[in-house]
Amino acid sequence: MDDYYEPWTYDYENLTAAPLGDDVPTAPPRSLVDGRPTAVTGGPNWDDDLGGGPAHLAGDPVLRKVSDDVRLEYENAFMFYLPRICEHCLNPSCVAACPSGAIYKRIEDGIVLVDQDRCRGWRMCVSGCPYKKIYFNHRTGKAEKCTFCYPRIEAGEPTVCSETCVGRLRYLGVILYDPDLVGEAASVEDDRDLYRAQLGCFLDPDDPDVAAAAEASGVPHDWITAARRSPVHALINRYRVALPLHPEYRTMPMVWYIPPLSPIVDALAGTGNDGEDAGNLFGAIDSLRIPVSYLAELFTAGDPEPVRDSLRRLAAMRAHMRRANLGEPEDPGIARSVGMDTAEMQRMYRLLALAKYEERYVIPTAYSAASGTGGDGCGCSLDTPGGPGMMPDGSSADAFHAPPKPPPQAAEPVHAAGPGGDDPPGRPRRVNLLNWNGHGRPDGLFPPRPQEET
Ligand code: SF4
Repeated sequence: MDDYYEPWTYDYENLTAAPLGDDVPTAPPRSLVDGRPTAVTGGPNWDDDLGGGPAHLAGDPVLRKVSDDVRLEYENAFMFYLPRICEHCLNPSCVAACPSGAIYKRIEDGIVLVDQDRCRGWRMCVSGCPYKKIYFNHRTGKAEKCTFCYPRIEAGEPTVCSETCVGRLRYLGVILYDPDLVGEAASVEDDRDLYRAQLGCFLDPDDPDVAAAAEASGVPHDWITAARRSPVHALINRYRVALPLHPEYRTMPMVWYIPPLSPIVDALAGTGNDGEDAGNLFGAIDSLRIPVSYLAELFTAGDPEPVRDSLRRLAAMRAHMRRANLGEPEDPGIARSVGMDTAEMQRMYRLLALAKYEERYVIPTAYSAASGTGGDGCGCSLDTPGGPGMMPDGSSADAFHAPPKPPPQAAEPVHAAGPGGDDPPGRPRRVNLLNWNGHGRPDGLFPPRPQEET
């Protein structure tokens, strides 16, 4: 708990039950382990954004490597958020670390899940995940992690974090890869080769041989067409602007990031240069406020070239679009200087700046190898009789495609809630909204109506 924090809640009841007095009542923290008052000193992803100041910066292994480039001076400070979820790695160390075989990577879509029934609470996965994306539930005694909202994904819906992201930063799509290449790619000697090694595992869905081999091995046709339209495939493989997070962990992470182009236009303008000119922008990339060397430690195990290439493409797109917006003649040299043509640059701009919902999330519905199609042939590997994807009445938990049916009983797709689960005794059972098909009033979802209370 010292390493991974003690879970806590707040004594909210004190806000309403405190005796009348001069002081405003507070909701003091209480340990979720033993209920006693506690002092909150750390939590999941505490200081992820290095908001803790120099005391914490000293412990940052990335900063230690690039201390010459990042000076801890107020006027040189920078900050950016790096929202992190489970990477649903191709080579997940949490799976390898679990002595109970409770963690598994689904063969149909690559989502990494913890089987709550098999988990014995060893917690090897907690220390085994270098991204710190497994959390231990002290009440249930089970490990928990991001489920990639799998019931939504099976129904062709994006994850909740993607759909609700105000900045529209998240993209979801299919990547075809060759699993036989993963072990070798994860074992390359030099950390700096890992980014390119992982790229080498990905397959081109537009290649007819790849498509034929995929179909022959049972990948549904609509998954292959979705892979062709995948925004993630485009950002990683076609435009090469997205990069993996900490590839040196060798888990082959699958949530990739576009490095930030920190504000350089004003900085350039301040020196009397045209801050939007492509040549000036390219030249300024090595003097960005967020140093390339720092970004390289985050995304390419210290190799600055892929980061520089990504930033140059973003800068070129900016210069290209500026000319278009000002009605100036197109300069194909800008796109050419970063290995693209103007049509490609326009498409990348569209994807990054204008893409609508259906272009940002290209998700085929549940994998159905038996039917050879997705779509209405939805099938979920967890929907086997008695499986965690089943409702108590034996029907599938896929609420989105299921025909209208009576309101479901409160049910969890994993057996976390209920007796022995994490519902406090005396409180109504939680209702899993993902299992609610929008019809009726499942028990516990709404406060009782006055006539129901009597
Ligand atoms: S990020 Fe961690 S929890 Fe997620 S799949 Fe990779 S090793 Fe497992």
